[in-house]
Amino acid sequence: MKVLRLHKPLDFRFHDEPVPEYGSDEVLVKIGSTGVCASDVHYYRHGKIGEQVPKEPHILGHESSGVVAAVGADVKTLKVGDRVALEPSKSCGHCEMCKQGYINICPNVQFFGTPPFQGTLREYIAWRADLCIPIPDNMTLDEAAIVEPLAVGMYAVQLAEMKGGESVTILGSGAIGLSVLQAAKLEGASKLIVVDPVPERRAIAKKLGADIVLDSAGSTQHIIDETGGTDLVFECAGSPDAVRQTAYVLRPKGKIMIIGIPDEDSYCFDASVSRRRELTVQFVRRSRNLVEKCIELISEGKIDAASMATHVFSFDETEDAFKLAMEKRDGVVRAMIHM
Ligand SMILES: [Zn+2]
Ligand SMILES: [Zn+2]
Repeated sequence: MKVLRLHKPLDFRFHDEPVPEYGSDEVLVKIGSTGVCASDVHYYRHGKIGEQVPKEPHILGHESSGVVAAVGADVKTLKVGDRVALEPSKSCGHCEMCKQGYINICPNVQFFGTPPFQGTLREYIAWRADLCIPIPDNMTLDEAAIVEPLAVGMYAVQLAEMKGGESVTILGSGAIGLSVLQAAKLEGASKLIVVDPVPERRAIAKKLGADIVLDSAGSTQHIIDETGGTDLVFECAGSPDAVRQTAYVLRPKGKIMIIGIPDEDSYCFDASVSRRRELTVQFVRRSRNLVEKCIELISEGKIDAASMATHVFSFDETEDAFKLAMEKRDGVVRAMIHM
């Protein structure tokens, strides 16, 4: 089968490798669609994320869907031909975090594309059957691949413990920002303000329910004038400027939710404004147990995933997809790779 490996920053190479063996509780999935995530682009550009450095040529990709091609002997829940969204993380199930239900921060978790665990930019993958979630007929494989970033946005909103009626600022309207937007709307946000420098992304945010969309320049003052400071801010841009801005767009006692991954491995908040307003900062790590819920919301038309899949590439064109995402050209939200 065809496999794409990252040898060093900006250096993808195709390989021919054997189709993986699958265990009795696993299925073999023919990958259909994979979205290019900002975290994949980090590896592509820098060869690592923080201290996570691949030791061998690495397979990226974790936002994926596909079709079941073979089933293990003990699998009763899936059959050949079923279309599935892939839950990209497999937690250990026995550590202290797993026992408490925090499977997303299990220290032993295996996650597609996070070294040393390989990702989905390949034709086939063997994966535990319960982590392959069937999708209904009215859903496309692109929408099923978008379920992963959507689950991250949904989880961030869950962690924010909204009660309804909150004013919300969202910094960055890539796939995560647009997912947070839609999830916060479902939770009853009273006002949703989205900030992004890319005009096409702002247009999608508007279509998906933002009350106000703003370019980054001058946005802090605009938000303060409009709301007096919002109750919540979600940082979905991964940029130092956006992280610093979070404290300034909030009212006193407001809450900062940090989802973006910064290029430099640090976050910087200005002390006096954060301290005087007695702000709370909550970091967000991936998601947990939300794949089924996301599939249901997309299928019922309550969440629009299709609008986030802005560009399509073939497997051979993967490098073009990564360059597009890296340079944030053409208003890209998610570049989808069709295998
Ligand atoms: Zn992702
Ligand atoms: Zn665990």
